[in-house]
Amino acid sequence: MYDVNSKHADDFINHEEILETLAYADENKDNLELIEKLIEKAALRKGLSHREASVLLACSDENMNEKIFRLAEQIKKDFYGNRIVMFAPLYLSNYCINGCTYCPYHAKNKHIPRKKLTQDEIRKEVIALQDMGHKRLALEAGEHPTMNTMDYYLKSIETIYGIKHKNGAIRRVNINIAATTIDNYRLLKEAGIGTYILFQETYHKESYKQLHPTGPKSDYDYHTEAMDRAMEGGIDDVGVGVLFGLDKYRYEFAGLLMHAEHLEAAFGVGPHTISVPRLRNADDIDASSFTNGIDDDTFAKIVACIRIAVPYTGMIISTRESQKVRERVLHLGISQISGGSRTSVGGYCEPEPEDEKTEQFDVNDNRTLDEVVRWLMQMDYIPSFCTACYREGRTGDRFMSLCKSGQIQNCCHPNALMTLEEYLMDYASPETKALGDKLIDREILNVPNLKARAVVTENLRLIRENNRRDFRF
Ligand code: SAM
Repeated sequence: MYDVNSKHADDFINHEEILETLAYADENKDNLELIEKLIEKAALRKGLSHREASVLLACSDENMNEKIFRLAEQIKKDFYGNRIVMFAPLYLSNYCINGCTYCPYHAKNKHIPRKKLTQDEIRKEVIALQDMGHKRLALEAGEHPTMNTMDYYLKSIETIYGIKHKNGAIRRVNINIAATTIDNYRLLKEAGIGTYILFQETYHKESYKQLHPTGPKSDYDYHTEAMDRAMEGGIDDVGVGVLFGLDKYRYEFAGLLMHAEHLEAAFGVGPHTISVPRLRNADDIDASSFTNGIDDDTFAKIVACIRIAVPYTGMIISTRESQKVRERVLHLGISQISGGSRTSVGGYCEPEPEDEKTEQFDVNDNRTLDEVVRWLMQMDYIPSFCTACYREGRTGDRFMSLCKSGQIQNCCHPNALMTLEEYLMDYASPETKALGDKLIDREILNVPNLKARAVVTENLRLIRENNRRDFRF
């Protein structure tokens, strides 16, 4: 039975409720009066329920869709301004005992080289990432009980936080690893992780079972209830997502929103981020053999509808998407993007030899971080390397209430400018730096509070003239 507060996967991601939601959306997809009302409700910036948002997703009326896109853009601006937070993935190990049929790390893949970074290799990779200018990482790994242990992760996090190279530092380590126990989540929290990220892949239980035939990940309930355990272990910033292309997107969309509603109802904190990965070709994976792929227009609509349904959540897009697609959806709700990414185990400090490729999926956007930063600024976005919130204790419900009230802007905008200036001083090409300095001089006038503006101006001077780093609000 559908119960948003229940801790059981079958209750909070209830199959019948999703089917009824899709039927309701079908019945009302041409009901312009209702759609108009839903758009008005969404404009209050308090979000929409999975049912309401599913009607908007199903709507095919051009005028209404135009309104939905415009509202998504406005909500994005209101909550996130023109800042885009930068990050990079770091693959620690591709050893895996699961049988995920869409992932090249599946256990039956005997020809992909298996690799696990040693602490020394991690150090080298992190220095290469710091030398690009990254401050925020997402650690990635397959699931393997003896190769990828919790001790290994904890040691790796400690290693990463301990590396100070020139002016470089990784200030926020997020982690995307298999569902685990409350005790392990507690250990990750104590190790100082930012967000715990776990994609549901698909919310459709029957499909899930077929797509995950073997290994611990085949347990749908254990996987779906992972965020509840993470919250119980004290991790209050969690990141959810589905892998679009595995099952029907409207089912996934409703499931994703129900998951967000559940976390908010049960713990008072919705997801810190929602990711929108799409299935890609990879080693022995042919994405075209999966029949639920979505086109770019549908993808853009999904991003816009998530944005207006869950206004407070950060939205992440990776280098699975091309420059063109990224450009299109940035406006509609994305707040974090990766740049200069490698999806192989190792490969940041030295490219992998052609016959030893360990990539998880083909990257669609191969530009360097400097190119991505410049491109963002050419479109008047502020690339932000800020990691202040969790370091200042602004996590979970504290972050959410600041975000919902709009007060977060008072921290984010100055922090974005100061961390961008650090990047420009330490890592940018002359062309990027010239563009960035102009942008910062212009954007500083948008710090609303005059006292804060004076502090930021002084801090920017200290960064530029005295090589001082790590100012934050
Ligand atoms: N082992 C962890 C787990 O089971 O969740 C971490 C997952 S993996 C390193 C990160 C994500 O990559 C997966 O959750 C999946 O959504 C995505 N992924 C796997 N194969 C993919 C493919 N062929 N194309 C795009 N994304 C893929």
